[in-house]
Amino acid sequence: MTGRFPDEVEVAIVGSGPAGSAYARVLAELVPGTRVAMFEVGPRLGEPAGVHVKNLPDDEAARARTASEGPGPAEVAPWRPGAARVRREGTFLLDAAHAGGMPSVAMSACVGGMGAHWTGACPRPGDDERPDVDGLDELLDTAERLLGVTRDPFADAPFAGTVRERLAAALDAGRAPDRRVGPMPLAVRVGADGAVHWSGADVVLGEATRADPAFGLHAEALVTRVVVEDGRAVGVRVRDRRTSEEHAVRARHVVVAADALRTPQLLWASGVRPAALGRYLNDQPQIVYAVRLRDVAGRPPAAASAGVSWVPYTRSEPFHGQMMQLDASPIPFVAQDAAPGSIVGLGWFCAKDVRAEDRVTFDAGDLDAYGLPAPTIHYGLSAVDRERTEAATAAVRRAAHALGEPLDPAPVVLSAGASLHYQGTVRLGRADDGTSVCDPTSQVWGVEHLRVAGNGVIGTEIAANPTLTALALAVAGARAIAADLTRTLTGARPAQGA
Ligand code: FAD
Repeated sequence: MTGRFPDEVEVAIVGSGPAGSAYARVLAELVPGTRVAMFEVGPRLGEPAGVHVKNLPDDEAARARTASEGPGPAEVAPWRPGAARVRREGTFLLDAAHAGGMPSVAMSACVGGMGAHWTGACPRPGDDERPDVDGLDELLDTAERLLGVTRDPFADAPFAGTVRERLAAALDAGRAPDRRVGPMPLAVRVGADGAVHWSGADVVLGEATRADPAFGLHAEALVTRVVVEDGRAVGVRVRDRRTSEEHAVRARHVVVAADALRTPQLLWASGVRPAALGRYLNDQPQIVYAVRLRDVAGRPPAAASAGVSWVPYTRSEPFHGQMMQLDASPIPFVAQDAAPGSIVGLGWFCAKDVRAEDRVTFDAGDLDAYGLPAPTIHYGLSAVDRERTEAATAAVRRAAHALGEPLDPAPVVLSAGASLHYQGTVRLGRADDGTSVCDPTSQVWGVEHLRVAGNGVIGTEIAANPTLTALALAVAGARAIAADLTRTLTGARPAQGA
């Protein structure tokens, strides 16, 4: 041991969000006893590690949100129509000078990552959204299992049925059966007593990982470099944020799951710089609106949770809608005297026209608050994006008028970055042709035993909330590591089940 970290492990994972946790879980299921060290720059928020803050008592949750906000600018940017910069609790913004054309680009720094704060919407990608990997449907099934996804957890929420019936009548014509209006699958479990448990990285890690003594999670541990020797990743350098000491940890495999900005940051800082690194940066232009449901009789009792509905992406309408009945929305809409469930927040996410020039760059002479090369965003919307945003705005209006009376004069397009769904910066591809960073098992081209994970691996124009898809890709990568470890360390076949 050097300090509190091991000297050597089989697998080092950078980042403790849902993607890094999926690697740990699959390895714990397939090759239990594998020494896995997970490093997380942020603090632990509560029990179990990776817990979603909504499962904590209110005072602890408030402290946990603040503790996740890292070293970013202290400025508070609450949501309001037309706000130039939008920041959600539990996240911190990149400073304005580096945020460039994506003013609301944000990160979290805590055990569990953004997954300690997320809304848990887990739609499946459809049509052109689907990444080009073998066995995607089965990978998505496994990702749903790891995230604890429930198809319709709040089916009995006030007016949820009314919302779906009205939307279906207005929008379903011509849609394939799996692309029709329905409940939004959510990473949430509702107990027999009605108690709601939101899935964070704790659920992804699961008992299999927690019970494995060979797994170690190290909070307040900044990975400053992936060590590469002779074209192969052989470990990481870690700075203990409690003591500022530096440690070297040898590893047979390294997985960088440090979000779509800090994964390319760490590769760049480590001298791993394939041509596509940081490029194809893809945020989902987001349009919001709110309505009061028309003609709903009575005042139902307040429910523990509110309905969340989904209008899936289609090729001809390359955007996707998420309707959240008031109290489930992460964006505060004004309710005043509204009956529970009768105010509906509509959020439409557009698939970005993915372009190489939209990118994050780094400069060795310009360091961030952690001392790593600071990310600078170069980002803009194309003519295609503007067309899609207009079409999505029209779709939001149609949906709103089908439901009731809008609360605002017009839908609002949020500032770029507000979606928190950044993708593409370490995207996968079938060939090492300069347009991708890794192969379909997330193995980085040209550096053996180095994998990347998270939304950055997704290269398709996806409008759906991306975490489920990112975890499906992580499952494929983790299985490849398990197969290597099984071959080289035990000579046995991997266990079945993950
Ligand atoms: P993260 O969860 O961001 O975790 C990465 C971790 O890596 C961070 O904790 C970070 O501190 C750590 N790290 C970075 N660099 C280093 C380093 N050098 N050394 C050590 N550690 C490092 N997505 C959906 O799909 N559906 C939703 O409904 C949804 N709602 C959201 C609502 C909110 C309010 C927020 C904040 C996010 C939401 N998201 C949603 C986005 C979702 O949370 C992310 O897609 C998901 O958390 C990404 O997982 P990840 O593991 O790739 O990255």
